[in-house]
Amino acid sequence: MFKCDCCGCCCRNLNKSELYSDLDRGDGVCKYLSGNLCSIYENRPLLCRVDECYDLYFCNIMERKEYYRLNMVECQKLKNMEG
Ligand code: SF4
Ligand code: SF4
Repeated sequence: MFKCDCCGCCCRNLNKSELYSDLDRGDGVCKYLSGNLCSIYENRPLLCRVDECYDLYFCNIMERKEYYRLNMVECQKLKNMEG
């Protein structure tokens, strides 16, 4: 499984991608974010599910390890941005 440390950075920066516009409360923060955690975690959209997205969309394109690495690169960019 993808090693998410629950920093919440991705859920506070939804305005970086139009794919998440439905979840954006207007300032880039997800309307379902509570503290750093997802208040609808068990029912969160597919786009928020790293492992399921790999199985559905990326498993024929790249190795899981590489997919995780690329995800971590983006996580780190967001973390750096928030300081
Ligand atoms: S930015 Fe990465 S590590 Fe932080 S909550 Fe999102 S997926 Fe997890
Ligand atoms: S639904 Fe949950 S996991 Fe998805 S962006 Fe919102 S808070 Fe984050």
